[in-house]
Amino acid sequence: MRIDLHTHSTASDGTDSPAELVAAAGAAELDVVAVTDHDTTAGWSEAVAARPSGVALVRGMEMSCTGRGDDGFPVAVHLLAYLFDPSHDAFAAERERLREERVWRILEMAARMSAAGLPVDGERIVDEAGPSVGRPHLARALIDAGIVPSIDAAFAGPLSRTSPYFVDKHDTRLSRAVDLVVASGGVAVVAHPRARARGRLLAVAEIRELAERGLGGVEVFHPDHTAADVDMLVRLARELDLVTTGSSDYHGTNKSVRLGDFTTPPDQFAAIEAAATGVPVVR
Ligand SMILES: [Zn+2]
Ligand SMILES: [Zn+2]
Repeated sequence: MRIDLHTHSTASDGTDSPAELVAAAGAAELDVVAVTDHDTTAGWSEAVAARPSGVALVRGMEMSCTGRGDDGFPVAVHLLAYLFDPSHDAFAAERERLREERVWRILEMAARMSAAGLPVDGERIVDEAGPSVGRPHLARALIDAGIVPSIDAAFAGPLSRTSPYFVDKHDTRLSRAVDLVVASGGVAVVAHPRARARGRLLAVAEIRELAERGLGGVEVFHPDHTAADVDMLVRLARELDLVTTGSSDYHGTNKSVRLGDFTTPPDQFAAIEAAATGVPVVR
């Protein structure tokens, strides 16, 4: 069984449409794939319709959250939400708020760039980006305008936190996000908790607190984790009785990782499926 529980489509910042993504999962000989776009379920229906037989589909999402950093200050954290009911009122309202935050943030960053003479059109980026616009879409516009050579260069330069163009968005408090996922029948899994390249780390103490309030698991096997990170997270998950997942975090050609490069053990996936009551795995 090859199980990849974290991938992105054009519904957020991947380059495969949801239909192409599930087809690619079949070609990569995955038995299970989860579609987990940033802050949106917009790719779900297309993925369900295009799913090849033999590939089980997990409907999910990767939420942008704010947690407590290991230095005590707020830190950006991602939370994977699996198999939740998309019609749950409070959770749907929070997704809508996140969507508005994303649009506002990109328009604001593009306006600052325009004011400084960079030829980027925020309205156009938002129109063309689909349901979950983000900094990668602004990065593409900067590449097209010849301002930076690559997505990495964009994130290290004009899109970085220390850039004069940077605008923060107000993400969901991590504890509230876990509550919303649980309330809507889903399973919440902290994404890549040790991915240092993304900045500071989530405090381990907060993972312990979240485990008490219904967190289901931690993503352990991930391209941004070292062997020492994997060891540490496996021990922590065992101690807290959390599921351990593994995933490629595939983004199509926006990142080099391939589908199925990192996978989830079948017994861990079975535990997620057994715990969820929102929507079923599509088989
Ligand atoms: Zn992430
Ligand atoms: Zn991701």
